Amino acid sequence: MDTTKQFATDMDSHDKMRKYKVEFYLSENQLYMDGNSLGLMSKRSEATLHKLISSWRDKGIDGWTEGEEPWFMYPELLSERVAKLVGANGTEVMVTGSITVNIHQMLSTLFHPTVERSVIVVDELNFPSDIYAVESHLRLRGLNPAVSLRKVKSNDGYTLTLHAIEEMLTEDVAILLLPSVLYRSGQLLDLGRITEMAHSKGIIVGFDLAHSVGAVPHQLHTDNVDFAIWCHYKYMNSGPGGTGGLYIHERHHHELPGLAGWFGSNKTKQFDMSHDFSKADGAGAYQIGTPNLLSTAPLSGSVELFEEVGMEAIRSKSLALTKYLRDLVHAELGTYGFVDVTPTADEARGGHIALAHPEAARICKALKEANVIPDFRTPDIIRLAPISFYSSFVDVWEMVQRLKKIMDEDTFKTFSNERNVVA
Ligand SMILES: *Cc1c(COP(=O)(O)O)cnc(C)c1O
Repeated sequence: MDTTKQFATDMDSHDKMRKYKVEFYLSENQLYMDGNSLGLMSKRSEATLHKLISSWRDKGIDGWTEGEEPWFMYPELLSERVAKLVGANGTEVMVTGSITVNIHQMLSTLFHPTVERSVIVVDELNFPSDIYAVESHLRLRGLNPAVSLRKVKSNDGYTLTLHAIEEMLTEDVAILLLPSVLYRSGQLLDLGRITEMAHSKGIIVGFDLAHSVGAVPHQLHTDNVDFAIWCHYKYMNSGPGGTGGLYIHERHHHELPGLAGWFGSNKTKQFDMSHDFSKADGAGAYQIGTPNLLSTAPLSGSVELFEEVGMEAIRSKSLALTKYLRDLVHAELGTYGFVDVTPTADEARGGHIALAHPEAARICKALKEANVIPDFRTPDIIRLAPISFYSSFVDVWEMVQRLKKIMDEDTFKTFSNERNVVA
């Protein structure tokens, strides 16, 4: 491969998304490779947040119904735009809650255990919060997680095979909950295939899209996925704690919310203040209380960027960046013991590259000192996510040079090989 800086410069000159870098706040000389954990702030997000703050300042309570973007319909209108990015109908998506809260909402709504079917299947590599949420639902229904929670096993500790997933889909399973992209290895699962496999056994399927929304195009509706949940603060750059999202296929919209609240009401009836709940028709029914508008507003500006560029173009640049990063690591750092654990095929990898290394924790500390922002995941993973909107090929090239210098000069050995509190 061509490892010269000139090659990276040429790639950048052909990149149609390069003009978007100035839309984001990047620190001078810093290479930010952690947009899969917390995306950077865009000027458009900042503007829509300021707009919301001004409406509060200028209108007080009337902000709910007056002004350019009245708060009462703000999440609903935004949800229709987000729905397009995940391949859902406008009524199937709601911008609300957080990943964990939305898992609770979807399980309390769709998990109806019976004597014959009471098992929930997850995978042994999933993020802890998802597992805690699922276990609590089993306990709430008087079921024992040691019996009713099953985990798809991984052969290599990093990825899942379709075969291993299929083996778990027995007649006593009620719900299958998997990530779209595994948060450590970056493996992208085939949502359509898995949904088909599960449906053939009468199992409801949900996906956690934390690591794919804003990075990978989805067709949730045509893939027939039953439900999905995600956050917007990773690839969608909506800010720390930004409001999350949920999708629920329209065939389930008759279901009463398991966790009901007045914001799940039909909008025209909500202020009747009746004790009889009039459920909203679509995914809006699964909102609970008053929306966190200050945490929602940045998403509006961000979505504009995604609408402008389109998910296909975002994905194709992301694939080119991660391929380039992987190839450069192999060419430049081949002798340093990095094991690339992200699947190679385009259709099997999300938006980041994961490198396993026994010294990962302190290599990450050395990278930070060299003004590269990586992401460490215990026990031995360095995640690197070049982001289509604000990373260039030269950034990737420069990052690999800084990493090479750290390895050549053993700089990482001056740090302890333990994780920080937030890592
Ligand atoms: C980021 C992430 C979470 C975080 O959940 P929150 O409720 O937003 O704190 C949960 N699950 C997965 C798979 C994640 O990647």
